[in-house]
Amino acid sequence: MQFEATDARRAFPCWDEPAFKATFQLVATIPLVNERNMLAVSNTPVTETTEFLHDGGRYKTYTFAPTPKMSTYLLALVVGEFDVVSAFSDKNQIQTSVYTMPGKGSKGKFCLSTALEALDFFIDFYGVKYPLPKSDLLAIPDFAAGAMENWGCVTYREAKILTDVGTSLQMKKGIARTVCHELAHQWFGNLTTMEWWDGLFLNEGFARFMEFKAVDHIFPQWDIWNEFIQSVYAMAMGLDAMMTSHPVEMKCNSPDEIDSMFDSISYAKGASMLRMVSTYLGDDVFMKGIRLYLNQYAYSNTIPTDLWTCLSTASGVDVNSFLHPWITQVGFPVITIDDVAGTVTMERFLASGRELPTSDSPPPPAWPCAFGDLVLDVNDPASMKSLLSKIADLKKASPYFILNSGRSGFFRINYSPANWAALAPALQPGVLPSIDRIALIDDCFSLGKAGYISVTTALDLISSFGDFGVDDFIVWQEVSEQLLGLAGFYKNEPFFPIFQQFLLKIASKQAARLGWEKKEGEPENYGSFRNAVHAMMGAAGDPATLEYCAKRFNVYAAGGESVSADLRKLVYKLALKQDEEGVTKTLLRLYRNTSFPGESAREGREDGSVMIHKVPLLNYSLLRANCVTRGPPPKKRPFLFPH
Ligand SMILES: [Zn+2]
Repeated sequence: MQFEATDARRAFPCWDEPAFKATFQLVATIPLVNERNMLAVSNTPVTETTEFLHDGGRYKTYTFAPTPKMSTYLLALVVGEFDVVSAFSDKNQIQTSVYTMPGKGSKGKFCLSTALEALDFFIDFYGVKYPLPKSDLLAIPDFAAGAMENWGCVTYREAKILTDVGTSLQMKKGIARTVCHELAHQWFGNLTTMEWWDGLFLNEGFARFMEFKAVDHIFPQWDIWNEFIQSVYAMAMGLDAMMTSHPVEMKCNSPDEIDSMFDSISYAKGASMLRMVSTYLGDDVFMKGIRLYLNQYAYSNTIPTDLWTCLSTASGVDVNSFLHPWITQVGFPVITIDDVAGTVTMERFLASGRELPTSDSPPPPAWPCAFGDLVLDVNDPASMKSLLSKIADLKKASPYFILNSGRSGFFRINYSPANWAALAPALQPGVLPSIDRIALIDDCFSLGKAGYISVTTALDLISSFGDFGVDDFIVWQEVSEQLLGLAGFYKNEPFFPIFQQFLLKIASKQAARLGWEKKEGEPENYGSFRNAVHAMMGAAGDPATLEYCAKRFNVYAAGGESVSADLRKLVYKLALKQDEEGVTKTLLRLYRNTSFPGESAREGREDGSVMIHKVPLLNYSLLRANCVTRGPPPKKRPFLFPH
């Protein structure tokens, strides 16, 4: 049973709002059908089981240990046939188990080892012991959400945590992130919970931020923060640049409004805000503030300013004043720097282009932007002067300058034409960190697409990429995504063939260097590199690329070797482009004949939402939940009924 946000009330009478924390004791009776190994799993360990016969059927009653004080939306009960793999974490000895459908236990091993390391990491980071006697992770087929952080009983869509030999590195990274995200919640969200759903951005933004921290700790070779910038941060900016975006913190009242809060502004922009403040304060000071917060508010509820206050106490900085404009205002700024004229301006960045002010326009919004210790306030001439003098110092040391290095601040920088031109040579491998190369490419293309500058400036910035050899795949992924985005815009334009020539110029040399097949001893992420480069060749209409994809798909469809996981989507897509009807039919056949969700996701829906109906999960009529309320008396707030 999945209760978040407002479905516990459908299962049993309760004060179904996060602030009404209580202890719960669950008793569940399940049918034992055909001698199958039916199990019931909940938040706490089983203390007693009894079996009985009734009306010709056999039943088993599970009694679970009382829970700690907790919110209703985190309760869980899962019933089904399972294989289980278990282990204890090295440092903290927490019993951790992964439940899978029968026969799939071995596919849960990567998830189990990641979970064990993540639990040890979080205990160290939070400075608070794991609050429950066990940690269960359950792979559920046909699960609507990607995953749910029920306390001690986390549920995941199968494709989100199971792996096999064909699982690509990118999918593995996604699995590690999902495992860490839900375990981050076991403290932040579950032990200390938002008072009301308008604090959801803090719960989800924090877990998204911490999932990257944990994955970076467990798999340092992945450079996962580059992917944060290339995916999470970029997604937040993409959405927040729309006129229709909304502030991170919003009022919500009805269940429908609560459901609408689970969007990328809460997750991705929330995480970007926390990364920004963590970098501004310093990672160790940030950790100190989080420890203070979790210790002070364990087993209770908070509003976002409680966290800002703890961070202020730890740092001596007024975090509330710094973050307030970011949390309450829609959008984010672009800072235009004319280092020749000596001016700095700030305005909201809009994907649809600059809004020209009229006589009755409200004053433009402003955001405090940190450049190291210097916080730019556009209404304070002194801070503007300090930034310009910092730029003058940077220009003395180098033919170009970059600001917001490491991309911690959530804003775009629009440099002068001279500085954009001077930056192009600095984009070759080995000069700037990958994170800054990604940031410059993203800013320049986004400004070009929105009309703040010419798209030619962006194309000039990357025009020498065609000569590069060995490089970081993530930068090429960024280049590929930007150029494929433009290809989508331009495909019906008369000049599209010229743009395709540009694509060929950028991608041909790398495509020849990487080839289609994995080479002995090459870096693990070359699969993603290959995918980014061949995707550009495909968009350029390169006949050899298209021919290879059609042939390769046919080999696989005829029962031959499957396409490597990194290239599968691209090969299918380019084969589909050439024979839509035939390839669609074949893909449907392949989709129906596989039972591994990762495979189904590859054949069918990229989001992994596969349609397999094999496990009868719960006979609701047999559930008895005894709810013992020991929490504080209900506060005055309208009780919400589902509808
Ligand atoms: Zn979450």
